[in-house]
Amino acid sequence: MEVFRFTRAIDVPQAIRAGAKSSTAQQGAQVRFIAGGTTLLDLMKLDVERPSEIIDINRLPLDKLEKLPDGRLKIGALVRNSELANDPKVKADYTVLSQALLAGASAQLRNMATTGGNLLQRTRCMYFRNDAMACNKRERGSGCSAIEGDNRSLAILGTSKDCIATNPSDMNVALTALEAVIHIQGTKGERDVPIDEFFLFPGSTPHRETVLEPGDLITYITLPPPRKSSNQVYLKLRDRASYEFALASAAVVAEVTGGKLTFVRVALGGVGVKPWRSLEAEKALLGKLPEAKSFRHAAEAALHDAQPQSENGFKVELAKRSITHALALATQSA
Ligand SMILES: Cc1cc2nc3c(=O)[nH]c(=O)nc-3n(C[C@H](O)[C@H](O)[C@H](O)COP(=O)(O)OP(=O)(O)OC[C@H]3O[C@@H](n4cnc5c(N)ncnc54)[C@H](O)[C@@H]3O)c2cc1C
Ligand code: SF4
Repeated sequence: MEVFRFTRAIDVPQAIRAGAKSSTAQQGAQVRFIAGGTTLLDLMKLDVERPSEIIDINRLPLDKLEKLPDGRLKIGALVRNSELANDPKVKADYTVLSQALLAGASAQLRNMATTGGNLLQRTRCMYFRNDAMACNKRERGSGCSAIEGDNRSLAILGTSKDCIATNPSDMNVALTALEAVIHIQGTKGERDVPIDEFFLFPGSTPHRETVLEPGDLITYITLPPPRKSSNQVYLKLRDRASYEFALASAAVVAEVTGGKLTFVRVALGGVGVKPWRSLEAEKALLGKLPEAKSFRHAAEAALHDAQPQSENGFKVELAKRSITHALALATQSA
């Protein structure tokens, strides 16, 4: 491992100034923030990330979980995944988020992992994690080993000819169904970005994963006021029951009034290049009876544009079943 400088940020402006010395906020950046370290240190050990300076942000006052006067929930970027998952407000009002967090990693990892770090965790594509292999995301223009290689776990929605990697986070799928907003502080001030606009499609620039610029620090995330009459479900399908990333997952927030679906949000994990909101499924469900026929129709609509690779064709049906089953669970008492 190369030698790097380690500094502790004492306040937010100092952290931003230090981060802004980097020429990019993405892969390969010389200056990196570190929170729980469970992604960054992992990738440094593999020689995939090689920062020359690491800024420890753990002492910044970004670890609060609070209800705002307008009913929104404010989640500090340093709130640990375990605290967020087990908070009574989150369990009651944002059940899908609690379920998604508890479906991820292990108890020990969740104790370290933070909200901001989870949001920015990197793909688990095996070629990205092996610096002997060609990977456009790791090294621009080097090629994509996965397209002709082992692509069983990779994406079928939103892919490009340059990258087919999935976003691996469970939390991000739930945040997408909940329409979270990401709050960023950077050298040009503060800005709010809806989660659906935060992640970029790979296109011809898969090394750029988000809208973040050098020095940008995620300070907190907000969730809209709770929908008290909604039912919420996160369903994760994977090769083994624990300590495994999703092959396909679905986050559903649904409300049934007068026997019909009057509000519905559907987001998918494990199949998209980013946490995947399915407006097609939502459109197909609105105003419909909560029954198997409507769920299947919505699942077909969600996967209509899927482009499987040589080894991951099974994900099309798996994703459809994750949607239909999550919808059935979310509406079973309606
Ligand atoms: C063995 C293993 C199994 C796992 N299984 C799962 C799983 O099943 N599901 C799942 O969803 N995840 C899983 N994970 C991933 C885990 O959830 C992430 O590693 C964790 O959430 C990252 O959070 P962190 O605080 O440790 O991030 P860090 O490693 O500290 O940071 C990650 C990235 O975010 C940047 N960063 C951190 N905070 C900020 C901020 N506030 N502003 C700007 N940039 C920031 C860092 O610079 C870095 O680039 C697994 C991880 C491991 C090691
Ligand atoms: S799918 Fe993306 S991350 Fe994986 S090898 Fe190809 S370019 Fe790299």
